[in-house]
Amino acid sequence: MNESSTAVLAEAPSCRFCGAALKHTFLDLGMSPLANSYLKPVQRTQLEPFYPLRVHVCARCFLVQLEEYESPDQIFSDYAYFSSYSDSWLRHAKAYTDLIIKRFGLNQESHVVEIASNDGYLLQYFAACGIPVLGIEPAANVARAAVEKGIPTVVKFFGQQTARQLVAERNQADLIIGNNVLAHVPRLNDFVSGLKILLKPRGVITMEFPHLMRLMAENQFDTIYHEHFSYFSLLAVEKVFAAHQLTLFDVEELATHGGSLRIYVCHEGKQPCSSCVADLRAREEFFGLARLDRYAAFAEQIKETKRKLLEFLIAAKRQGKSIAGYGAPAKGNTLLNYCGIRTDFVDYTVDRSPHKQGHFLPGTHIPIYHPDRIRETKPDYLLLLPWNLKEEIMEQMAHIREWGGQFLVPIPEVKVYP
Ligand SMILES: [Zn+2]
Repeated sequence: MNESSTAVLAEAPSCRFCGAALKHTFLDLGMSPLANSYLKPVQRTQLEPFYPLRVHVCARCFLVQLEEYESPDQIFSDYAYFSSYSDSWLRHAKAYTDLIIKRFGLNQESHVVEIASNDGYLLQYFAACGIPVLGIEPAANVARAAVEKGIPTVVKFFGQQTARQLVAERNQADLIIGNNVLAHVPRLNDFVSGLKILLKPRGVITMEFPHLMRLMAENQFDTIYHEHFSYFSLLAVEKVFAAHQLTLFDVEELATHGGSLRIYVCHEGKQPCSSCVADLRAREEFFGLARLDRYAAFAEQIKETKRKLLEFLIAAKRQGKSIAGYGAPAKGNTLLNYCGIRTDFVDYTVDRSPHKQGHFLPGTHIPIYHPDRIRETKPDYLLLLPWNLKEEIMEQMAHIREWGGQFLVPIPEVKVYP
């Protein structure tokens, strides 16, 4: 992109799906660093880039979206997120594999391609059943971990060009999987067009992504960060696929990531359409997702969520309580930066991933340690940043109760779990 077109984009952004001018703000979270830019100790004294975190809603197609401030190369080339570090996510992957193999009769003759296959956390289960797989993963360090596990993986971004190349190499797919990737795609039409090319005539695509209706209903504003370019309702995603002659024939609502959708997509007319699609479409319309004023009401709700969390933390500190964080997920960084929570409230956080330990959270510079630190310092409150995994974490960390420690869950609104 040349300089002049960047300037034009900054003036009047347009919808990444339908091209209409974006004139309506959904939520403005102020300036924020990239949520996955964990800092090495030496970087703490260096200049740190902050970008506006302002979300728009398109008045024509209702796609909720961010402008693109950093190239995907910058964001994803050395990604710190390794899927295999979450037990519940692995269980989710295994359950999906069993379900999908049965439903679509996949076998040793089938070909399964996963886009954004991470460290092979999902494809390993297909491979274990003798089903040929291929992973596509843009982050080289994560892809390397997959290859070491025996999961063939190409290091690439996905779009029309990659799809054509894969088809030429006889990699057309019976099943294409994309979990938590659609939100990360800057060039949405090129991506979906690539899916169409890569899919065999009777093949099926499944995609999972956080559901916008749940985000709005449950104050999940912290799932908004620069790496997530789009936030999908069924209404919007259906239009996107239909524009590429792909039909959304089934949908499931999942508990993952605070409430996700799993959509099933095929070439037009190749599968019977489930009534679940019309049912959810009607519920979204009832919720107001086809009306602009419903989107406008969200911002005030989020300001109040911030005020309540800060009120709690201020009162706790005045009582002399100590607070440590648990986890260092991207969503935690949006929460902490937007609310202005630094080491004045949270002494440190811990994470099971060795790739994050010894680093500092972007923006807030809260240090990240090994989970053993919790037992050593015995904090009064443990603030659970990956609140979507709260049951799993409260079980793993049950021992904080030995010294009277309590869990603090910030979303949908601040709540103490003794
Ligand atoms: Zn649009």
